[in-house]
Amino acid sequence: MPLIQRVVAMPAEVRAACDAARARGLLVGFVPTMGALHEGHLALVRKARQNANFIVVSIFVNPTQFGPNEDFIKYPRNLDVDIDRLSDLADVDLVFAPEVSSMYLAGDETRVTVGALASHLCGPLRPGHFEGVATVVTKLFGVVGPCTAVFGKKDYQQLAIVRRIARDLFLPVTIVGHPIIRDPDGLAVSSRNAYLLPQERVRALGLSRGLLLASRAFASGERNAGVLRGLALAAVAAVATSVDYVTVADAESLVPFDDAAAIGARAVLAIACRIGQTRLIDNVVLGEDDLHAFGEDDSHAQF
Ligand code: AMP
Repeated sequence: MPLIQRVVAMPAEVRAACDAARARGLLVGFVPTMGALHEGHLALVRKARQNANFIVVSIFVNPTQFGPNEDFIKYPRNLDVDIDRLSDLADVDLVFAPEVSSMYLAGDETRVTVGALASHLCGPLRPGHFEGVATVVTKLFGVVGPCTAVFGKKDYQQLAIVRRIARDLFLPVTIVGHPIIRDPDGLAVSSRNAYLLPQERVRALGLSRGLLLASRAFASGERNAGVLRGLALAAVAAVATSVDYVTVADAESLVPFDDAAAIGARAVLAIACRIGQTRLIDNVVLGEDDLHAFGEDDSHAQF
C-alpha cells in the first residue's frame, strides 16, 4: 500500500506545506527533476532522506532551458508512472507537479543570468540553457523555501552553477551533490536513454568506456591533459554520430586545460555527443571518483 504523499500543482500549496513542516521542526529535503524518473532520481531522493525528514520532489519539464531545436515537445512525460515510482519509495512527502503557467505567470520576465561557469562545456552549444536552468531552480528554491537540495553530478556543470547561485544570491539552501548512477555495464542512466534504439544503446557505452580508459590512465600516473582527453575522445569518436566536446577542465571553474597542460590532483573530464539523434552527456572527476563507478571489478562490465 503506497504511503504517498500529496501531489500538488500550485506553488502556494508547496510553500504552505513546507512552512508547516518547518514549523513542526522538520528539515525539508528537495529533489528537483523533469520526471521520467529512473534510478538516478531515486538515489537523489534517498540521499535527501538522509539529510532531511520532509521530502519534496518536483516534476517539471522547464521550457526555458530547452533551445528551439531541442526536445521540449518530445521529452518523456508520464506523471502517473512517476508518482507510482515515488509511492513505492515511501520516502517522499510531497510531489510538486506544476503547469508551465503556474511557474511562469502571465507577464513573467525575470531571468537569472549565469556568469563564466556557463561559458564552458555545454554553455556555448546550448545558448540560453543555463539561464533557463538558473531561473527555474531559483523559482523552485523560492517556492520550497529553506531546504537541503540534492542534485546529481551527472549534470556536473548544472551542479556547479546551482552551487554558485545559492552562494551568490544568499539563498537559504544547502546544495548536496550525488554521484552518477550507472547501469551495470557503465552507461549513466538518463531519461534520454529512452530515445536510444538497441544498437545505439550499445554504442552509447563508448562514453563511459572513454571515461574509464582516461581514469585508468590517471590512476597510473598520467597527468597530461591532452593524453587523457585523447583516450576519451578516441572511444567516443568511435561510436558517436557527432562529438560536441570531450574536455578536461578545472573541477571548480570549469575552465578547460590546454592539451599541453599537466593537470593537478583533480580535474573533470566531461563528454557531450550525439548517438543518432540523442544527445548524451557524461563525466568523471579524475582524482576523486573511483573506478568502481564504471562497473570496474564487476563481472557485468563490458569494457
Ligand atoms: P533531470 O530530471 O534530468 O533534470 O534530472 C534531475 C536530477 O537528477 C538532476 O540533479 C540530475 O543531475 C540528476 N540525475 C540525472 N541522471 C542522474 C544519474 N544517472 N545519476 C545521478 N543523478 C542523476
